Amino acid sequence: MRFVSTRGQAGSVSFSEAVAQGLAPDGGLYLPDEFPDITSYLSDWENMSYPDLCFSFFRLFASDIEENNLRELVKDSYSRFSHQEIAPIVSLKKNLKILELFHGPTLAFKDFALQLLGNIYEEQIKKNGKPLTILGATSGDTGAAAIAGLLGKKGVTVFILFPDGKVSPLQERQMTCTEADNVYPLAIEGTFDDAQRAIKEIFSDLEFKNKVGLSAVNSINLARILAQSVYYLFAWLQLEKHERENTTFVVPTGNFGNVFAGWLLTKMGLPIKGFRVATNQNDVLHRLFQSGEYSLENVSPSLAPSMDIQVASNFERLLYFILGGDSKKLRQVMATFSEKGKYSFEHFKVDGFTSSSVCDEELPQIIKQVMDEYGYLVDPHTACAFKDLDSSEKYLILATAHPAKFPSVYQKASLPTPTSTTLEELSGKKSKKYFVDADPEAIRAFIEEHLD
Ligand SMILES: *Cc1c(COP(=O)(O)O)cnc(C)c1O
Repeated sequence: MRFVSTRGQAGSVSFSEAVAQGLAPDGGLYLPDEFPDITSYLSDWENMSYPDLCFSFFRLFASDIEENNLRELVKDSYSRFSHQEIAPIVSLKKNLKILELFHGPTLAFKDFALQLLGNIYEEQIKKNGKPLTILGATSGDTGAAAIAGLLGKKGVTVFILFPDGKVSPLQERQMTCTEADNVYPLAIEGTFDDAQRAIKEIFSDLEFKNKVGLSAVNSINLARILAQSVYYLFAWLQLEKHERENTTFVVPTGNFGNVFAGWLLTKMGLPIKGFRVATNQNDVLHRLFQSGEYSLENVSPSLAPSMDIQVASNFERLLYFILGGDSKKLRQVMATFSEKGKYSFEHFKVDGFTSSSVCDEELPQIIKQVMDEYGYLVDPHTACAFKDLDSSEKYLILATAHPAKFPSVYQKASLPTPTSTTLEELSGKKSKKYFVDADPEAIRAFIEEHLD
């Protein structure tokens, strides 16, 4: 299978190349050039373990990775999860279930993709001998998960930008207390969007990109999206047969990566009823689905910081489908958006999506209410999913992080502070971070200085 850029001005590439590139050379995002129909495999996939399902799904896309190697690297990727089922489902009541995605090494769903991505990179370096430089921006969880996935990998050097003071102290410790030689956590002044903007510019500098073998771990990377599609598929197969086609997935969303990964399965024939895009007070996506206007506002730091995002990078992938694959039109929309900070769609209608938004005042109340009603503790991102649900509908909520990752919110909810031994183990370790300006020039200089 080949992969093409949403912007239509870069040649098609193999799976490994699309993963290594991250962002396509024309500034677009990679998508498969055709979609397999997975419905004929579903009966074989019933009751498969998570790693087996992941392998079977990836085999359809990663045709340039040797089958046994793929099987091994997938198996290894899910060997550090603390729950046997990897992504267990918990039932809160008849029509309301939770898919727990926080049993990986850094206690957030991003481990699903980044453990695998780290192993795919390693496989590729083994094959072609070319070292890779990983550059990413994080609002907290991506950085921690990327670092955990890439720690100590031969031939990989990792640079992760994060907004100083705007990630939780625990997230910061997950990034800075690794004691690894190949990892550089870079603190910038500004927001996640500032970091992401600088990075996008560096990725468009193709000379530099080739020189240092730059790759991206943000959810612009295709491997992340496909790795996340797997848990939707796994969850769908765990549902009772009569629930499968009428359950809506509710997805706490910032960059539109997670929810897009689920939606992609509908392109492969999986009958999913719909997706609910659950945002925090940074509601650019909620406003888009309500009004058809995609318009930026300033980032407002919230109690669910991993979704404090305005520019939802993966929206470009959905847009590609909305525009019927018309890359020229897509380039026009993106150019207008980048110039004016907004774009109004005349007829914005995508079947299968609803949306909601939760402000900071409501969050602790929702957490308390969920605890009182179901005896279940949610983290602040997952809490966003509970807004305005229709009690006559069936929902599966994606729990994106373990509550112990965001301890500061629980006092506001009059609940005891949750803990986790994984996180407590970090407190004894030495922390290391570097300060750089959120300026492409300064970041490039730092990278060159710190590569061997
Ligand atoms: C990253 C993250 C999100 C948002 O995911 P997107 O892919 O950006 O939509 C939600 N919750 C948590 C806990 C996260 O770490």
